[in-house]
This record gives sequence, C-alpha cells and structure tokens, in this order.
Amino acid sequence: MDNCLFCKIIAGDIPSTKVYEDAYCYAFRDINPQAPTHILVVPKDHVASIAEADKLSPEALCAVITAIGKIAAQEGLEKGFRVVSNCGPDACQSVPHLHFHILGGRQMADQMA
Ligand code: AMP
Repeated sequence: MDNCLFCKIIAGDIPSTKVYEDAYCYAFRDINPQAPTHILVVPKDHVASIAEADKLSPEALCAVITAIGKIAAQEGLEKGFRVVSNCGPDACQSVPHLHFHILGGRQMADQMA
C-alpha cells in the first residue's frame, strides 16, 4: 500500500533489522524498544489492524501467529514474553498496518494497561 511505513519496510524501501521472514510475514526489531527484546511481526499483505484480520487469508493469519513462537524461541525467550497488538486510537496504535509486538527479556509488569 502506498505511503504505509511497514509496507515500505517489507519492500526494503526503508531499512530494518530483520529477524524473520517467510512467504506471509516479516519481523524486525522495533526502532524504539520498550524491552530488551522488542520485535514487530507484520503480515506482508496490508490490513490496518487486527480489526481487519478477516481480510487476510487463513494461511497468512496462521503464519503470523506461528511466527511469533518461532521468533521467541530464536530469541531465547524461554522465560516468557508478551504479545501486544494495538488497535485504533484508544490503544494508541501509531502505524496503521497490523502488527504484533513481541516484548521480552525482562519481567513484565503485572498489569497490562
Ligand atoms: P504501535 O504504536 O502499536 O502502532 O506500534 C508501532 C511501533 O512501530 C512503535 O513501537 C514504533 O517504535 C515502531 N516503529 C516506527 N517506525 C519504525 C521503524 N522505521 N522501524 C522499526 N520500528 C518502527
């Protein structure tokens, strides 16, 4: 999609630190990490948020979700990790391309919000 930051990252037009890629998804390190490990997992097809996940193929959805576990193992997050997907203004979503934050490498706060 034109003018989408994460579409440009997936296309290689904007640099990123890639940690994982397959036919359906791409994962890279967050530029402003909120934890020792902070990775974004995005479907290659553009949808704005998880509210539009029904526009993705079942294969793409499955790939994105299973990639999270693969990346966590790759990153050595055996003690655990948190997965967050902000959706819309109340959740402070800043990039309107569906993405899952993987946060790990430290004890997370007990409360989620
Ligand atoms: P959200 O606020 O949930 O939409 O998350 C968007 C995330 O994208 C934020 O954590 C940003 O730090 C991250 N981000 C923005 N631009 C880049 C970039 N060029 N490379 C990597 N991460 C980015």
